[in-house]
Amino acid sequence: MMREVEPIQLQEQGAEATTLPETIAALERVSRNYWWSWNPDGHSVFRDLDQEVFDDCEHNPRRLLKEVPQYSLMRMATDPVYVERVRDLAARFDAYMSSGQETWAARHARALTHERPVAYFCAEFGVHHSLPLYSGGLGILAGDHLKSASDLGLPLVAVGLLYHHGYFRQHLRRDGWQEEAYQQINVGDLPMELVRDKDGEPVRIDLFVRGRDVQVQAWRAEVGRVPLYLLDTNVEGNDEIDRLITGHLYGGDRETRCVQEMVLGIGGVRLLRRLEIEPHVFHLNEGHSAFLTLELTRELTESGVEFGEAAARVRSRCAFTTHTPVAAGHDEFVAPLIEKCFGQGYWDALGLTRDEFLNLGRVKEDDEEELFGLTPLALRMCRSSNGVSRKHGEVSRELWNKMWPERHVEEVPISHVTNGVHAPTWVSPLLRSLFEERIGSGWTEVLHDADAWSRAVDSISDEELWKVRRLQRKRLVAFVRERLFQARLQQHEPRSWAEAALGMFDPDALTIGFARRVAAYKRWGLILTDSERLRRMLLDPARPVQLVFAGKAHPQDQGAKLILQQIAQWELDPEIMQRAVFLQDYDQEVARQLVQSVDVWMNVPRRPLEASGTSGEKVAMNGGLNLSVLDGWWLEGYDGQNGWAVGEEGLSETIEEMDRRDAESLYRVLEHEVVETFYDRDGQGIPRRWVGMTRHAIRTLAPAFNSDRMVRDYTRQIYLGE
Ligand SMILES: *Cc1c(COP(=O)(O)O)cnc(C)c1O
Repeated sequence: MMREVEPIQLQEQGAEATTLPETIAALERVSRNYWWSWNPDGHSVFRDLDQEVFDDCEHNPRRLLKEVPQYSLMRMATDPVYVERVRDLAARFDAYMSSGQETWAARHARALTHERPVAYFCAEFGVHHSLPLYSGGLGILAGDHLKSASDLGLPLVAVGLLYHHGYFRQHLRRDGWQEEAYQQINVGDLPMELVRDKDGEPVRIDLFVRGRDVQVQAWRAEVGRVPLYLLDTNVEGNDEIDRLITGHLYGGDRETRCVQEMVLGIGGVRLLRRLEIEPHVFHLNEGHSAFLTLELTRELTESGVEFGEAAARVRSRCAFTTHTPVAAGHDEFVAPLIEKCFGQGYWDALGLTRDEFLNLGRVKEDDEEELFGLTPLALRMCRSSNGVSRKHGEVSRELWNKMWPERHVEEVPISHVTNGVHAPTWVSPLLRSLFEERIGSGWTEVLHDADAWSRAVDSISDEELWKVRRLQRKRLVAFVRERLFQARLQQHEPRSWAEAALGMFDPDALTIGFARRVAAYKRWGLILTDSERLRRMLLDPARPVQLVFAGKAHPQDQGAKLILQQIAQWELDPEIMQRAVFLQDYDQEVARQLVQSVDVWMNVPRRPLEASGTSGEKVAMNGGLNLSVLDGWWLEGYDGQNGWAVGEEGLSETIEEMDRRDAESLYRVLEHEVVETFYDRDGQGIPRRWVGMTRHAIRTLAPAFNSDRMVRDYTRQIYLGE
């Protein structure tokens, strides 16, 4: 279905300055860099300026500073305790920004410099929920990559797109059907500046797309020490339809997708040229940016280098990460669309014929049936390719063996770097303060040293750990009640019904989280396979279990929307309703609430379709326990004692067989292990075995599955490797 073209406002002003009372004037500076979002007291300093306005602004400090009432502002500006907190926060920010010489990268990655950084390209970035330029795992991972690169002092510039309508917000109708709403981003409310040249004029990049000139501007946001450049076609003078190229994330048709990817790949390279940045390596995080390899090649062929030599030189500077083992997840375009978007001029400039050009995106040369795929293009044009877990590396080698038919599958040149998550972003403030108390403010660096980390985590007592876990669960229950209450009010439900939400759920019941994209292979319905058995488990008066679901269905995926509706309707059963809830509009904030607080994280995709998965890693660092099929990261993380495995590692003959066996295994583990262990309490009411598993999960999983480790691996194996 084509969306009607909605005009978008022209936006030429970046973050407008605000004038703050001098005692807290530093907030202006701190609010312009997403650093605040992962540092202790960053969130709470802004929140405490005016909690209500902060919530209304979706935790966007730039808006907060503009919208905070004068009285709140003056009240806090004259509160010496608050003023001291602001001073502290600003001092830590300044120290962080100026400590580039003492970082890990300064010691271990000297070939990377600010003149010759890593250029990291991605179609989505999930830095903070107030910047809705992500849809799910890929974007969040990219955001975590930037934050770790910043923390490690790695010279890296990121390139993405500024989607004026972002990704959709999810609403469920009363009958459980998902509806999508796109909002308009106001750049003036975001911490970003229009990129300007030396004379102060906005930088404009020229592209020739679909037979028309398109002008592209760029915004710069700061993620700690890492700049994030966001390309934007919403420029005066562009054709109306071209202004919408950067309108929606994954919301348009194939053609929009293709031109978005041209803006990202080709526009991104041209922007870096204008900024006089000469990357040491271009990192294509997923195939969306693969057109950049064509642009780099074109630069060389236009200066007289012949295509083969030019392509070889480009290859030596590009690295590709593939993120999905699902064949349909790889972007492809029909030849006429490629021809329309690029035009003959582009392959002429490369010194290629139309067919030679199309062959770059095909597995088999001259196969007219084949679409132009960005993954084959990237595999062909990059010196290194990797999957995102050990298993996914293996699966990718099988999937793409066809590109190298003469090679044995083990020799297919695709390696792996397992995904990790940014500990300071995802660990709850309460647990973080416990880590800081035991380990010190450098606790994230200790993660690097598994032995030292082990000793530190072992020094946390059962009582302390259980206390944090209980408080987190209570917090989650309060959050669930509040969200459901608000959702019911918004759906114009009767007041009494809305208020009933404030009494549901039990702060002491075993709480299981299940939040992920709604897609058939993620098997949302697996737990409903035997609904009577599930009902008995949830409603057991002595040992109750409660379930929290969240996730968005792709707007065009009707099948996924049906799955969602099925869950939503199941939850309308008056008894089930007390023990199961679907939280609408899964985003980074909802994810944080869940991963920090659930007792168990359930993950049951059909194997081997989970490339890595990262949400379970977030849960593990917070002391939650994973209950997951052995796929993606969990195959590497599970050691028999730090969580549970669902099903067997091998594959069954048929999908139905696999689903049936996995469902049986899921129920068995839940009933006989998870529930048993959780409710096995000692005289003080502490489940010793459970807490032991919790500690063991933090000890074994946090060092291996955090994004500092991931970025160090990328640096050593990919960025600095040849
Ligand atoms: C971490 C995260 C994801 C990715 O989780 P998976 O384990 O890959 O499903 C998706 N969405 C949000 C909002 C997240 O925070």
